[in-house]
Amino acid sequence: MSDPTLQDYEAMYAGLLCAWDRGELRGPINHYNHEGGVAVSGFEMRQWLSMQCVKCRYDWSLRKLPYLQEAMQRYWQELSENGLNPKET
Ligand SMILES: [Zn+2]
Repeated sequence: MSDPTLQDYEAMYAGLLCAWDRGELRGPINHYNHEGGVAVSGFEMRQWLSMQCVKCRYDWSLRKLPYLQEAMQRYWQELSENGLNPKET
């Protein structure tokens, strides 16, 4: 079985939102050679992958995705527990 392509990884990001401002993470996916990255089809070296938030331009690393999802859940749960409405922009 071959490694996932960049497009495959990009699809994994689909629907994810920035933990800070709920901005959408949108492609194209950013990547560069990095030993701590992931195997990508078509690249000899492992690639460090990230995608930018369309709002704050924060570059979210693929490696941080589990953290991102947990952080988002905590963030929005705290907001609702405090009776606060998420800020609409
Ligand atoms: Zn953002």
